[in-house]
Amino acid sequence: MTNQDTTISEARARLQAERTAALDDLASLRDRLETKGDYGLGEGDPMIYQWELNLALLERAEQHLAEIDEALQQLDMGIYGLCEKCGNPIEPERLAVLPHTTLCSRCAQRRR
Ligand SMILES: [Zn+2]
Repeated sequence: MTNQDTTISEARARLQAERTAALDDLASLRDRLETKGDYGLGEGDPMIYQWELNLALLERAEQHLAEIDEALQQLDMGIYGLCEKCGNPIEPERLAVLPHTTLCSRCAQRRR
């Protein structure tokens, strides 16, 4: 087994663990969002803010899950770890922290 294979199987294991966690987050957020109708609250109620916060978290969790799926797809296609903007390899230190990232640190900084 080469080093590259080890890196890829490690990345896959980490992405799958991250995916499971993201799906758990999504399920619990969806549960909490479903309870909105039970309160019968008016405008400006703190519970509404909480609900809106959960909705924002849900959108972020869905985005995160999409990124993980994209990274898993790249693994399958053998292009994992390449920046989708410039095509250069993403820094290994960056992938270690953000296994689902599709941008190298330079392109990620430019986007902000
Ligand atoms: Zn790049």
